Amino acid sequence: MRKRCAKAPFQGASTALKIIRRIADFESPPDAKVGFVPTMGAFHEGHLELMRRAKGECGYCVVSLFVNPLQFGPNEDFSRYPRREETDLEMARSIGVNAVLSPSAEEMYAGIQTKVMIGGISELWEGELRPGHFDGVVTVVAKLFNIVRPHMAYFGEKDFQQCAVISKMAEDLNFRITLRFVETVREQDGLAMSSRNAYLDPANRTKAPQLYKSLLEAAGRIRTHPNDSAAIGEILESVRQTLTDTGFDVDYFALVDSRTLQPIERAGEYSRLIAAAKLGSTRLIDNVPL
Ligand code: AMP
Repeated sequence: MRKRCAKAPFQGASTALKIIRRIADFESPPDAKVGFVPTMGAFHEGHLELMRRAKGECGYCVVSLFVNPLQFGPNEDFSRYPRREETDLEMARSIGVNAVLSPSAEEMYAGIQTKVMIGGISELWEGELRPGHFDGVVTVVAKLFNIVRPHMAYFGEKDFQQCAVISKMAEDLNFRITLRFVETVREQDGLAMSSRNAYLDPANRTKAPQLYKSLLEAAGRIRTHPNDSAAIGEILESVRQTLTDTGFDVDYFALVDSRTLQPIERAGEYSRLIAAAKLGSTRLIDNVPL
């Protein structure tokens, strides 16, 4: 009888994925160019697009999967935030991600006495409505940058203020990392993909694309009166009203300078429309360039 050879487990076409739970165990190959994608998991096409970009541009892609307790307020959704690591790992594997860093909160924060604080650009909009949120974000991102030591790091424009906040933190703390901001990936009906969309009940899911539609409508109308601050004020007010009539509870809908996040009255080269609104208990954010 012929003896059967023992075979290595089938790995599919993609690269073997390393899963790292202890910070001390993290290392990248010494000659690798590392592209890093920080995430909180519950992956969708938006996350996968960041991973594709990192893999394509750098060759070695590291993803962190960590629901960061520091960036959630006491009445926010930390405990019910979607967690599905097995599916996430499969999805990361399908992109050819090389390593997923998935530490526990204990591993990240036990005994911590140092936090990063950011003022200025973090104090408006999301920062005003979610006190402490951006300090939690920059603390975890600074720690992850130091653990992973990437050449490039990838963030989604869906979280537009977060991109600006992380740029400022990286500049202020002299991280030598090139940051890449990736255009928002959307569902077919325009809704920006988000792990939190899973909270929408069917009735609110049908209303949700109105946020993006209103941003596009406002951008189109503002482009026809870029220097008319009174007209711009009226446009913003009328789209806010449309959102309220649709059932949104609007937190903000504003024209800002994308470099400073300060509200502006006239549109120019760096203008961006940003919005946040609740549908039931689900909070959606989105933005468009002008
Ligand atoms: P999160 O897991 O929600 O913290 O997101 C991880 C990264 O994915 C962040 O840089 C997000 O801005 C980015 N991201 C989330 N949703 C999208 C999207 N729809 N399109 C592009 N990037 C996204």
